[in-house]
Amino acid sequence: MERPQAARVSSTAIRDLRIEERIAPATEALDCGPNPTFGRHFTPAMLALEWREGEGWAQGRMEKKGPLPIDPSCIALNYGQSIFEGLKAYRQPDGGVAVFRIRDHALRFERSARRVALPEFPPDAFVEMVTRFVQHQARAIPEGPEIALYLRPLLMGTEPGLGIRAAKEAMFLVMGAIVGPYFGRGKTSVKVRVSEEFVRAAPGGTGSAKVAGNYASGLLALRQAWDEGLDQVMYLDAVHRRFVEEMEGMNVFVVHNGTLRTPPLTDTILPGVTRQSLIALAKAREIPVREEPIAWDEVAAGLRAGQVTEIFAAGTAAVVAPIGEIRRGNDVWVLPDKRPVAELLRRELRAIQSGGAPDPHGWRTVV
Ligand SMILES: *Cc1c(COP(=O)(O)O)cnc(C)c1O
Repeated sequence: MERPQAARVSSTAIRDLRIEERIAPATEALDCGPNPTFGRHFTPAMLALEWREGEGWAQGRMEKKGPLPIDPSCIALNYGQSIFEGLKAYRQPDGGVAVFRIRDHALRFERSARRVALPEFPPDAFVEMVTRFVQHQARAIPEGPEIALYLRPLLMGTEPGLGIRAAKEAMFLVMGAIVGPYFGRGKTSVKVRVSEEFVRAAPGGTGSAKVAGNYASGLLALRQAWDEGLDQVMYLDAVHRRFVEEMEGMNVFVVHNGTLRTPPLTDTILPGVTRQSLIALAKAREIPVREEPIAWDEVAAGLRAGQVTEIFAAGTAAVVAPIGEIRRGNDVWVLPDKRPVAELLRRELRAIQSGGAPDPHGWRTVV
Protein backbone atom coordinates (compact mmCIF):
# COMPACT_ATOMS: atom_id res chain seq x y z
CA MET A 1 0.00 0.00 0.00
CA GLU A 2 1.16 3.51 -0.81
CA ARG A 3 2.34 5.33 2.32
CA PRO A 4 0.83 8.84 2.39
CA GLN A 5 3.92 10.01 4.26
CA ALA A 6 6.11 9.55 1.19
CA ALA A 7 4.11 12.09 -0.80
CA ARG A 8 4.20 14.57 2.07
CA VAL A 9 7.93 14.39 2.53
CA SER A 10 8.70 14.84 -1.14
CA SER A 11 6.31 17.76 -1.47
CA THR A 12 7.91 19.64 1.38
CA ALA A 13 11.55 18.85 0.66
CA ILE A 14 13.49 21.89 -0.37
CA ARG A 15 15.05 20.85 -3.61
CA ASP A 16 17.05 23.91 -4.20
CA LEU A 17 18.50 26.07 -1.48
CA ARG A 18 19.84 28.61 -3.94
CA ILE A 19 18.95 32.18 -3.09
CA GLU A 20 18.76 34.84 -5.72
CA GLU A 21 20.28 38.01 -4.28
CA ARG A 22 18.32 41.10 -5.29
CA ILE A 23 19.76 43.28 -2.54
CA ALA A 24 23.40 43.64 -1.56
CA PRO A 25 24.51 42.53 1.93
CA ALA A 26 24.26 45.15 4.67
CA THR A 27 27.43 47.23 4.92
CA GLU A 28 26.79 49.46 7.91
CA ALA A 29 25.19 49.36 11.34
CA LEU A 30 21.54 50.41 11.41
CA ASP A 31 21.10 53.72 13.20
CA CYS A 32 18.30 53.14 15.67
CA GLY A 33 19.26 55.33 18.62
CA PRO A 34 20.14 54.23 22.15
CA ASN A 35 16.70 52.81 22.97
CA PRO A 36 15.14 51.15 19.91
CA THR A 37 11.42 50.37 20.17
CA PHE A 38 10.97 46.61 19.90
CA GLY A 39 10.23 45.39 16.39
CA ARG A 40 10.35 48.72 14.60
CA HIS A 41 13.91 48.99 13.37
CA PHE A 42 14.07 46.52 10.53
CA THR A 43 17.25 45.71 8.68
CA PRO A 44 16.96 46.37 4.93
CA ALA A 45 16.38 42.85 3.58
CA MET A 46 13.89 40.01 3.77
CA LEU A 47 14.25 36.47 2.54
CA ALA A 48 11.23 34.95 0.79
CA LEU A 49 10.56 31.44 -0.45
CA GLU A 50 7.40 30.08 -2.09
CA TRP A 51 5.83 26.67 -1.94
CA ARG A 52 3.22 24.99 -4.09
CA GLU A 53 1.68 21.61 -3.45
CA GLY A 54 3.08 19.06 -5.88
CA GLU A 55 5.97 21.33 -6.85
CA GLY A 56 7.57 21.98 -3.48
CA TRP A 57 9.71 24.98 -2.65
CA ALA A 58 10.98 27.35 -5.29
CA GLN A 59 14.30 29.17 -5.22
CA GLY A 60 14.57 31.85 -2.52
CA ARG A 61 14.89 35.60 -2.95
CA MET A 62 16.87 37.93 -0.75
CA GLU A 63 15.20 41.24 -1.48
CA LYS A 64 14.46 44.64 -0.05
CA LYS A 65 11.95 44.36 2.80
CA GLY A 66 8.63 45.70 1.59
CA PRO A 67 4.99 44.95 0.78
CA LEU A 68 4.11 41.45 -0.38
CA PRO A 69 2.17 40.56 -3.52
CA ILE A 70 -0.49 38.39 -1.87
CA ASP A 71 -4.12 38.05 -2.86
CA PRO A 72 -6.67 39.55 -0.42
CA SER A 73 -8.63 36.30 -0.51
CA CYS A 74 -5.66 34.26 0.67
CA ILE A 75 -6.07 31.81 3.49
CA ALA A 76 -3.58 33.43 5.86
CA LEU A 77 -5.44 36.74 5.81
CA ASN A 78 -8.93 35.28 6.03
CA TYR A 79 -8.49 32.24 8.25
CA GLY A 80 -5.23 32.87 10.05
CA GLN A 81 -3.22 29.99 8.61
CA SER A 82 0.04 31.55 9.67
CA ILE A 83 2.82 30.67 12.08
CA PHE A 84 6.00 32.36 13.19
CA GLU A 85 9.19 32.09 15.21
CA GLY A 86 11.20 34.61 17.21
CA LEU A 87 14.91 34.12 17.81
CA LYS A 88 17.93 36.31 18.28
CA ALA A 89 21.41 36.75 16.86
CA TYR A 90 23.99 38.41 19.11
CA ARG A 91 27.27 40.03 18.27
CA GLN A 92 30.15 38.12 19.85
CA PRO A 93 33.29 39.58 21.47
CA ASP A 94 35.38 38.62 18.41
CA GLY A 95 33.07 40.61 16.14
CA GLY A 96 31.27 37.52 14.80
CA VAL A 97 27.57 36.85 15.21
CA ALA A 98 25.91 33.85 16.87
CA VAL A 99 22.29 32.76 16.72
CA PHE A 100 20.87 31.42 19.98
CA ARG A 101 19.45 27.87 19.85
CA ILE A 102 18.58 28.03 16.19
CA ARG A 103 17.83 24.32 15.89
CA ASP A 104 15.34 24.37 18.76
CA HIS A 105 13.47 27.17 17.02
CA ALA A 106 13.63 25.21 13.75
CA LEU A 107 12.06 22.15 15.38
CA ARG A 108 9.32 24.22 16.95
CA PHE A 109 8.61 25.92 13.62
CA GLU A 110 8.12 22.54 12.01
CA ARG A 111 5.72 21.49 14.77
CA SER A 112 3.77 24.74 14.55
CA ALA A 113 3.43 24.32 10.78
CA ARG A 114 2.08 20.81 11.19
CA ARG A 115 -0.53 21.97 13.72
CA VAL A 116 -2.19 24.30 11.21
CA ALA A 117 -1.64 22.06 8.15
CA LEU A 118 1.00 24.25 6.56
CA PRO A 119 3.79 22.49 4.66
CA GLU A 120 6.29 21.28 7.22
CA PHE A 121 9.40 23.34 6.81
CA PRO A 122 12.38 21.01 7.31
CA PRO A 123 14.52 22.09 10.29
CA ASP A 124 17.69 21.91 8.16
CA ALA A 125 16.15 24.33 5.70
CA PHE A 126 15.08 26.65 8.51
CA VAL A 127 18.62 26.67 9.90
CA GLU A 128 20.04 27.29 6.44
CA MET A 129 17.62 30.10 5.57
CA VAL A 130 17.94 31.91 8.88
CA THR A 131 21.72 31.55 8.79
CA ARG A 132 21.87 32.96 5.26
CA PHE A 133 19.72 35.88 6.30
CA VAL A 134 21.88 36.65 9.34
CA GLN A 135 25.07 36.44 7.26
CA HIS A 136 23.57 38.87 4.76
CA GLN A 137 22.41 41.35 7.42
CA ALA A 138 25.11 40.90 10.09
CA ARG A 139 26.83 44.20 9.40
CA ALA A 140 23.57 46.00 10.27
CA ILE A 141 23.89 44.99 13.95
CA PRO A 142 25.19 47.96 15.98
CA GLU A 143 27.50 47.59 18.96
CA GLY A 144 25.86 47.67 22.36
CA PRO A 145 25.48 45.41 25.38
CA GLU A 146 21.73 44.92 25.09
CA ILE A 147 21.53 45.03 21.31
CA ALA A 148 20.51 42.01 19.21
CA LEU A 149 19.16 41.13 15.80
CA TYR A 150 15.67 39.76 16.42
CA LEU A 151 14.73 37.32 13.68
CA ARG A 152 11.17 36.75 12.60
CA PRO A 153 10.57 33.75 10.34
CA LEU A 154 6.99 33.43 9.09
CA LEU A 155 5.10 30.76 7.20
CA MET A 156 1.64 31.41 5.83
CA GLY A 157 -0.98 30.03 3.48
CA THR A 158 -1.04 32.28 0.44
CA GLU A 159 -3.38 30.36 -1.84
CA PRO A 160 -6.23 32.64 -2.98
CA GLY A 161 -9.84 31.53 -2.47
CA LEU A 162 -12.36 31.78 0.34
CA GLY A 163 -13.07 28.09 0.85
CA ILE A 164 -11.92 26.87 4.25
CA ARG A 165 -9.11 24.43 3.63
CA ALA A 166 -5.34 24.06 4.01
CA ALA A 167 -3.59 26.25 1.46
CA LYS A 168 -1.88 24.63 -1.49
CA GLU A 169 0.43 27.60 -1.75
CA ALA A 170 2.53 29.01 1.03
CA MET A 171 5.24 31.55 1.65
CA PHE A 172 8.18 31.38 4.02
CA LEU A 173 9.74 34.67 5.04
CA VAL A 174 12.53 35.88 7.28
CA MET A 175 12.90 39.47 8.38
CA GLY A 176 14.98 40.97 11.14
CA ALA A 177 14.89 43.96 13.47
CA ILE A 178 17.52 45.52 15.68
CA VAL A 179 16.25 45.39 19.24
CA GLY A 180 17.26 46.53 22.71
CA PRO A 181 15.54 45.71 26.00
CA TYR A 182 11.95 44.68 25.22
CA PHE A 183 10.27 46.96 27.75
CA GLY A 184 12.66 49.84 27.14
CA ARG A 185 15.90 50.79 28.80
CA GLY A 186 15.74 51.33 32.55
CA LYS A 187 12.54 49.41 33.16
CA THR A 188 13.47 46.72 35.66
CA SER A 189 10.11 45.05 36.25
CA VAL A 190 6.65 44.74 34.73
CA LYS A 191 3.12 44.96 36.07
CA VAL A 192 0.70 42.20 35.27
CA ARG A 193 -3.02 41.47 35.44
CA VAL A 194 -4.24 37.90 35.91
CA SER A 195 -7.16 37.67 33.50
CA GLU A 196 -10.44 36.39 34.89
CA GLU A 197 -12.35 37.00 31.71
CA PHE A 198 -10.20 35.54 28.95
CA VAL A 199 -8.16 32.42 28.34
CA ARG A 200 -5.20 32.10 25.98
CA ALA A 201 -5.35 28.43 25.08
CA ALA A 202 -7.63 25.46 25.61
CA PRO A 203 -6.82 21.75 25.62
CA GLY A 204 -6.85 20.50 22.04
CA GLY A 205 -6.33 24.01 20.69
CA THR A 206 -3.27 25.69 19.25
CA GLY A 207 -1.69 27.06 22.43
CA SER A 208 1.51 25.04 22.18
CA ALA A 209 2.18 26.21 18.61
CA LYS A 210 3.33 29.68 17.54
CA VAL A 211 0.16 30.28 15.55
CA ALA A 212 -0.68 33.90 14.70
CA GLY A 213 -4.29 33.58 15.86
CA ASN A 214 -3.23 32.84 19.44
CA TYR A 215 -1.97 36.37 19.73
CA ALA A 216 -5.00 38.02 18.13
CA SER A 217 -7.19 36.49 20.82
CA GLY A 218 -5.12 38.20 23.53
CA LEU A 219 -4.95 41.70 22.11
CA LEU A 220 -8.11 42.98 23.77
CA ALA A 221 -6.96 41.83 27.21
CA LEU A 222 -3.58 43.40 26.56
CA ARG A 223 -5.13 46.72 25.60
CA GLN A 224 -7.27 46.66 28.74
CA ALA A 225 -4.16 45.98 30.84
CA TRP A 226 -2.37 48.90 29.17
CA ASP A 227 -5.39 51.14 29.84
CA GLU A 228 -4.94 50.28 33.54
CA GLY A 229 -1.27 51.23 33.40
CA LEU A 230 -0.10 47.60 33.41
CA ASP A 231 2.21 45.85 30.95
CA GLN A 232 1.13 42.26 30.46
CA VAL A 233 -1.62 39.70 31.00
CA MET A 234 -1.22 36.41 32.83
CA TYR A 235 -3.59 33.64 31.85
CA LEU A 236 -5.10 30.85 33.90
CA ASP A 237 -6.06 27.45 32.52
CA ALA A 238 -9.21 27.30 30.43
CA VAL A 239 -10.82 24.34 32.21
CA HIS A 240 -10.60 25.13 35.93
CA ARG A 241 -9.57 28.78 35.73
CA ARG A 242 -7.29 27.90 38.64
CA PHE A 243 -3.82 27.14 37.34
CA VAL A 244 -1.27 29.67 36.18
CA GLU A 245 -0.38 29.11 32.53
CA GLU A 246 1.65 31.90 30.96
CA MET A 247 1.58 35.38 29.47
CA GLU A 248 0.58 36.16 25.88
CA GLY A 249 4.16 35.65 24.73
CA MET A 250 6.24 34.55 27.68
CA ASN A 251 6.41 31.60 30.05
CA VAL A 252 6.07 32.14 33.79
CA PHE A 253 8.31 31.17 36.71
CA VAL A 254 7.59 31.46 40.43
CA VAL A 255 10.21 31.27 43.18
CA HIS A 256 8.41 29.60 46.07
CA ASN A 257 10.35 28.79 49.25
CA GLY A 258 13.52 28.86 47.19
CA THR A 259 12.22 26.41 44.58
CA LEU A 260 11.88 27.54 40.98
CA ARG A 261 8.47 26.44 39.74
CA THR A 262 6.97 26.64 36.29
CA PRO A 263 3.90 25.01 34.74
CA PRO A 264 4.58 21.73 32.94
CA LEU A 265 4.46 21.55 29.14
CA THR A 266 0.89 20.62 28.30
CA ASP A 267 -0.79 21.42 25.01
CA THR A 268 -1.85 24.80 26.40
CA ILE A 269 1.70 25.99 27.11
CA LEU A 270 4.11 27.23 24.48
CA PRO A 271 7.36 25.29 24.96
CA GLY A 272 9.66 28.27 25.30
CA VAL A 273 13.32 27.96 24.40
CA THR A 274 14.09 30.53 27.10
CA ARG A 275 12.06 28.49 29.60
CA GLN A 276 14.06 25.40 28.75
CA SER A 277 17.35 27.33 28.95
CA LEU A 278 16.54 28.81 32.38
CA ILE A 279 15.59 25.40 33.73
CA ALA A 280 18.97 24.04 32.58
CA LEU A 281 20.87 26.97 34.08
CA ALA A 282 18.99 26.71 37.39
CA LYS A 283 19.71 22.98 37.63
CA ALA A 284 23.40 23.62 36.95
CA ARG A 285 23.36 26.07 39.87
CA GLU A 286 21.60 23.50 42.04
CA ILE A 287 18.50 25.61 42.39
CA PRO A 288 15.62 23.16 42.91
CA VAL A 289 13.33 23.21 39.86
CA ARG A 290 9.83 21.81 39.62
CA GLU A 291 7.72 21.67 36.49
CA GLU A 292 4.29 21.23 38.01
CA PRO A 293 0.82 22.76 37.95
CA ILE A 294 0.76 25.99 39.96
CA ALA A 295 -2.61 27.02 41.36
CA TRP A 296 -3.13 30.78 41.50
CA ASP A 297 -4.48 30.40 45.07
CA GLU A 298 -1.16 28.89 46.10
CA VAL A 299 0.71 31.81 44.56
CA ALA A 300 -1.55 34.33 46.28
CA ALA A 301 -1.16 32.57 49.66
CA GLY A 302 2.61 32.37 49.09
CA LEU A 303 2.75 36.07 48.31
CA ARG A 304 0.81 36.88 51.48
CA ALA A 305 3.07 34.67 53.57
CA GLY A 306 6.26 36.00 51.99
CA GLN A 307 7.09 32.54 50.62
CA VAL A 308 6.70 33.55 46.99
CA THR A 309 9.63 35.90 46.64
CA GLU A 310 9.90 36.28 42.86
CA ILE A 311 7.70 35.88 39.82
CA PHE A 312 9.13 36.41 36.38
CA ALA A 313 8.33 35.89 32.75
CA ALA A 314 10.74 34.45 30.21
CA GLY A 315 10.91 34.64 26.43
CA THR A 316 13.31 35.42 23.62
CA ALA A 317 12.21 39.03 23.22
CA ALA A 318 12.44 40.10 26.88
CA VAL A 319 14.78 37.28 28.05
CA VAL A 320 13.80 37.52 31.76
CA ALA A 321 11.14 40.01 32.81
CA PRO A 322 10.70 40.26 36.60
CA ILE A 323 7.14 40.97 37.71
CA GLY A 324 7.02 43.86 40.17
CA GLU A 325 3.27 44.00 40.65
CA ILE A 326 0.48 41.56 40.01
CA ARG A 327 -3.26 42.09 40.15
CA ARG A 328 -6.23 39.81 40.16
CA GLY A 329 -9.70 41.30 40.52
CA ASN A 330 -9.26 44.07 43.09
CA ASP A 331 -6.27 42.46 44.79
CA VAL A 332 -2.83 43.96 44.21
CA TRP A 333 0.47 42.34 45.23
CA VAL A 334 3.78 44.12 45.08
CA LEU A 335 6.82 41.87 44.86
CA PRO A 336 10.18 42.51 46.55
CA ASP A 337 12.77 44.55 44.67
CA LYS A 338 15.40 41.91 45.41
CA ARG A 339 15.27 39.21 42.75
CA PRO A 340 18.31 37.01 43.21
CA VAL A 341 17.09 34.04 41.15
CA ALA A 342 15.83 36.08 38.20
CA GLU A 343 19.00 38.19 38.24
CA LEU A 344 21.34 35.22 38.37
CA LEU A 345 19.57 33.32 35.59
CA ARG A 346 19.26 36.39 33.40
CA ARG A 347 22.93 37.25 33.80
CA GLU A 348 24.06 33.72 33.02
CA LEU A 349 21.81 33.39 30.00
CA ARG A 350 22.83 36.78 28.60
CA ALA A 351 26.49 35.90 29.05
CA ILE A 352 26.09 32.71 27.03
CA GLN A 353 24.06 34.48 24.34
CA SER A 354 26.55 37.25 23.81
CA GLY A 355 29.66 35.10 24.03
CA GLY A 356 30.76 36.35 27.45
CA ALA A 357 30.72 32.84 28.96
CA PRO A 358 31.48 29.32 27.75
CA ASP A 359 28.68 27.50 25.94
CA PRO A 360 28.55 24.04 27.57
CA HIS A 361 25.17 23.18 26.03
CA GLY A 362 26.07 24.15 22.46
CA TRP A 363 23.40 26.83 22.29
CA ARG A 364 25.31 29.27 20.06
CA THR A 365 25.54 28.85 16.31
CA VAL A 366 28.20 31.12 14.89
CA VAL A 367 27.19 32.18 11.40
C1 LIG B 1 7.26 32.63 21.92
C2 LIG B 1 6.45 32.41 23.18
C3 LIG B 1 7.04 32.13 24.42
C4 LIG B 1 8.51 32.17 24.63
O1 LIG B 1 9.22 31.28 23.85
P1 LIG B 1 10.78 31.50 23.62
O2 LIG B 1 11.15 30.35 22.78
O3 LIG B 1 11.40 31.49 24.94
O4 LIG B 1 10.91 32.82 22.94
C5 LIG B 1 6.22 31.85 25.49
N1 LIG B 1 4.89 31.87 25.37
C6 LIG B 1 4.29 32.15 24.21
C7 LIG B 1 2.81 32.15 24.16
C8 LIG B 1 5.06 32.44 23.09
O5 LIG B 1 4.47 32.74 21.95
